[in-house]
Amino acid sequence: MTQSDARILIIGGGFGGLFTALDLAGTGEITLINNEDHFLFKPMLYEYLSGEVEAWHIAPDCRELLDEKVRFIRGVVLNVDLDARRVILADRPEPVPYDVLVVAPGAVTNYAGVEGAEQFALPFRVLNDANRLRRRMTEALDHVQPDAAPQDTRGALTFAVVGGGASGVELSTKMADLLRDAVKRRALKGEPRVLIVEMADRLVPGMGEEIRKFVEDALEKIRVEVHTETRVVRVTERGITLEHNQTHTELETAAVVWVAGVRVSPLAESLKVEKDRRGLILVERTLQVRGYPNVFGLGDVAFYSDVVPTLAGTAQLALQESGLCARNVRAFIEGNPLKTKRFIELGEAVSLGTEHAAVLSAGKVISGPLARQARFAMYTARLPTWHHRLRVGASWFFEGTQPRPLQPLGF
Ligand SMILES: Cc1cc2nc3c(=O)[nH]c(=O)nc-3n(C[C@H](O)[C@H](O)[C@H](O)COP(=O)(O)OP(=O)(O)OC[C@H]3O[C@@H](n4cnc5c(N)ncnc54)[C@H](O)[C@@H]3O)c2cc1C
Repeated sequence: MTQSDARILIIGGGFGGLFTALDLAGTGEITLINNEDHFLFKPMLYEYLSGEVEAWHIAPDCRELLDEKVRFIRGVVLNVDLDARRVILADRPEPVPYDVLVVAPGAVTNYAGVEGAEQFALPFRVLNDANRLRRRMTEALDHVQPDAAPQDTRGALTFAVVGGGASGVELSTKMADLLRDAVKRRALKGEPRVLIVEMADRLVPGMGEEIRKFVEDALEKIRVEVHTETRVVRVTERGITLEHNQTHTELETAAVVWVAGVRVSPLAESLKVEKDRRGLILVERTLQVRGYPNVFGLGDVAFYSDVVPTLAGTAQLALQESGLCARNVRAFIEGNPLKTKRFIELGEAVSLGTEHAAVLSAGKVISGPLARQARFAMYTARLPTWHHRLRVGASWFFEGTQPRPLQPLGF
């Protein structure tokens, strides 16, 4: 195996896999396999839901991003034969062989075995999830009669967001702003009801105290109902059952959205390598999978021991790991010593509705519309490739980033 003919196979075209492929360009024969044709900048999926950004901004086509020498396969990896060094894809009879493997298939929604959740709650991880939720909100609005009493409007427009982490906060505030705007535009009486349900005693447990106050103020202002120390017992087609202080409450809902946790992708689950109790693949500080020096693991599927807990399971971490991964894959092929790296927190940015955000950077918090602009700027810089960043930056600068109202369907 030499630097020019080493077969490097990367599974997953997200923050870990795509950025590793971009960094590695020019090394060996690279193949990237992803089950979607596009990369997804997930931190802005909320803005896609609200129409503040378009699909091409945050979900560019993988082939357009990659160097032409990188082979891209759109497909689902079913299995990896670590001993024979090859991967098996769905709908493809021939296995794909490799010399070096990078495993970065990310996470999936974890419904934690709650009755009805997987069947009836909506996930929020990919573009189609956002499309489906937007449609559900629009349909709920379309069903409200123009002369409906305020309490009927509120009942028909009740949405529950399960999970009080940053995702739950960002999603619920966007939904509340979008729905309230639509109610106003349609001259309906009353207002929508958006709730966050969280098992712990407070929201955003992983977030610093400095930024928490801004989050709590924003939720109050946008009138998102917060239900902490509350467990979801059941989700049905039309509602949700909650338990608080041993009392059960049933609520009719237009939709329940589940952002209460993740687990590793089924592919990572199927790999017979050392894992921790949550199923995360144990990797050395070089990102090599334990026992397999030619296999690297990163992103949401990998447990890297030397990382502050708040960084785990974030794009910030996957992105930083991709740099180390690319460097170590190259060193491994060249027979050079592999490196380790200390990963740092790059700051926190949370959107709070369609007009506000809060950004924590260098120990200082800014909030309001300015923070919203800062968040857009910060995320532009983290999009893949200079070319894409410039196109998106120009589009946001010149065309603006206003939300797209929830128009009645068929308009
Ligand atoms: C809505 C949302 C908002 C978020 N906001 C933030 C934020 O603000 N800040 C932050 O730091 N983090 C955020 N995160 C978390 C962050 O997105 C993840 O930590 C990050 O994407 C992990 O990168 P990854 O490469 O491990 O996985 P991903 O980016 O998820 O990429 C994995 C890729 O592999 C593909 N794949 C999976 N299985 C297979 C298979 N069998 N075959 C082929 N391809 C496969 C997937 O489709 C996906 O394209 C957010 C996540 C979500 C869902």
